[in-house]
Amino acid sequence: LCPLDQVQNHKICVCVRKRPLNKRDVRAKEVDIITVATQNCIVVHEPRQKVDLTRYLENVKFRFDYVFDSHADNDLVYRFTAQPLVQAIFEGAMVTCFAYGQTGSGKTHTMGGTCSGKSHEGSHGIYALAARDVFELIIQQRYQSLNLAVFAAYFELYASKVFDLLNGKARLHVMEDKRGQVHVVGLKEILVTDASQILSLVNAGNCNRTTGQTSMNTNSSRSHAIFQLILRPKSLHPGCPVPVHGKLSLIDLAGNERGADTASSDRQTRREGADINVSLLALKECIRAMSENQTHQPFRGSKLTLILRDSFVGERARTCMIATISPALSCCEHTLNTLRYADRVKEL
Ligand code: ADP
Ligand code: MG
Repeated sequence: LCPLDQVQNHKICVCVRKRPLNKRDVRAKEVDIITVATQNCIVVHEPRQKVDLTRYLENVKFRFDYVFDSHADNDLVYRFTAQPLVQAIFEGAMVTCFAYGQTGSGKTHTMGGTCSGKSHEGSHGIYALAARDVFELIIQQRYQSLNLAVFAAYFELYASKVFDLLNGKARLHVMEDKRGQVHVVGLKEILVTDASQILSLVNAGNCNRTTGQTSMNTNSSRSHAIFQLILRPKSLHPGCPVPVHGKLSLIDLAGNERGADTASSDRQTRREGADINVSLLALKECIRAMSENQTHQPFRGSKLTLILRDSFVGERARTCMIATISPALSCCEHTLNTLRYADRVKEL
């Protein structure tokens, strides 16, 4: 992969990560239809049929800032996606990193890693790797004089409702103040002093998520999980609100295929699908507005983008999208949808 500093100063970074075929895919005799051609180029070999019914493969090509092949691990993905953003929050930036893709394509694997429950073994995801770096940077000489403290928040957005995962799933409300600042009222921010504490918080929070983590049709595919690390100068007067120095929001988005649930016969499912659709569309518009340096920001389009407002507007805003895809033939249509969405988000 090419040197990091080439993308380090971009406002928007858009990457794709292809996961390997897993055991379930192999049992289902799935074939891999994705080729990572170069570190920037990915090709989908889409099965098509001519009018005379002869079959052929159409090669559909996309270019991105980075494309990660199935053997890339979380460490590598992290280095080229969220790591430059972690550095940026110490310089006062408000940043976001999204995992976007179909359910089962690897969003949670990328963000949360594979360590679960009490054990801290397995491969760390971006939450843990970012936490590690935050506590490495905070003791570096050039940042010491800032006298910063680290706070963690973890909440879920489900059918436009906010639930605090670090506070027993308390339902929270979003308010905008006179200065246009958006607040999640009552969101618990926990002061953290080392990286392992953050892992415990994430694990505890995950137990509060709408349902289990990885099995295919759970509700976790219908909610957005937002994990935040917030830097604030240490308070001299406990109890007084201290302004944010920098903020990192790491988002495990709802499965994008859920946006198609708007045709479901179940009313609840249909509403959830419509909601996911709206938030993913608003997200795309907000990121596009960042690259166009628009003064009008479409962040009011959804609860998700409203909450993340301060990470879309202004000079200090930066974002990274990691589009995750399955290599399987049966996922071809969803994969193309994911890649087309990511393609639209790229910096203009
Ligand atoms: P999502 O959160 O997008 O629904 P998951 O992260 O739960 O998907 O991934 C689905 C399954 O595939 C999990 O068992 C996960 O461990 C596995 N998986 C996903 N990405 C990778 C990867 N890059 N390497 C190995 N296994 C992966
Ligand atoms: Mg998931």
